[in-house]
Amino acid sequence: MLPVIALVGRPNVGKSTLFNHLTRSRDALVANRPGITRDRIYGIGRVGGGGYMVVDTGGLSGEGEGIDAHMAAQTWRAVEEADAVFFLVDGREGLTAADEEVAARLRGTGKPVWLLVNKTDGLDGELACAEFHRLGLGRPHAVSAAHGRGVKAVLQRALAELP
Ligand code: GDP
Ligand code: MG
Repeated sequence: MLPVIALVGRPNVGKSTLFNHLTRSRDALVANRPGITRDRIYGIGRVGGGGYMVVDTGGLSGEGEGIDAHMAAQTWRAVEEADAVFFLVDGREGLTAADEEVAARLRGTGKPVWLLVNKTDGLDGELACAEFHRLGLGRPHAVSAAHGRGVKAVLQRALAELP
């Protein structure tokens, strides 16, 4: 069975863009409009000698009602099913209260969580990552889903270190 990686984070941080990069597909909807991925979307990718499955999710906004609550429930179900989680945050917007809430809940799942600071194209990666150390999820990894920067390295580490 292929290992499953769930992509988790607030709307608009670049989950679907990363999904497309990891699966070389256009299956996930990429949009400026937050929350457009309604449900979980699965794709398959390959790196080195091995394959993996990726699950795109609709996003966690911290709002508790309606479509947001539905997306959140789908997201946490995807986390339960996953072998590892890529938690995306936005290196341009910086750390938000919703990021802290999601981080706290992710720490409680016991899943391996990889913290990806996205949209660092054109930014100093180390600087962009600095404030995210306090999420308590280990070292933040600077990536650019749009350009593919930093993605392969964290993907290979995540697959190598699966429980
Ligand atoms: P999602 O809601 O988390 O799935 O986010 P999307 O993948 O739909 O992306 C939201 C917006 O961020 C889109 O306009 C993307 O083009 C943009 N975006 C995603 N990744 C990057 C990135 O690495 N760099 C930059 N500059 N923009 C990005
Ligand atoms: Mg999306």
